[in-house]
Amino acid sequence: MIHIAGQALVVPPGHMRQRCSWCGAVLIDQNLERLAVPEGQALTPARWEFGALVEVDGSMSRVVPYVEGEPLPAGACALVDPEVTV
Ligand SMILES: [Zn+2]
Repeated sequence: MIHIAGQALVVPPGHMRQRCSWCGAVLIDQNLERLAVPEGQALTPARWEFGALVEVDGSMSRVVPYVEGEPLPAGACALVDPEVTV
């Protein structure tokens, strides 16, 4: 399934979640307190760029190239019947 990355949020003290803007599927759910950060360095956890199309296949995920205004690629959650994803 291909999702549309929403805004990544970090809730103190350190839990980050990023969902699909369209259907709400969880793209990232990470406890940042468990990440090892070298002393003196800021924590900049990986996240999807807002609005990016992210294909999720099991535990693998990747960005799907997309030109704004073009039809969404097959497999996009936004093409599923809205009654299922609302
Ligand atoms: Zn979605």
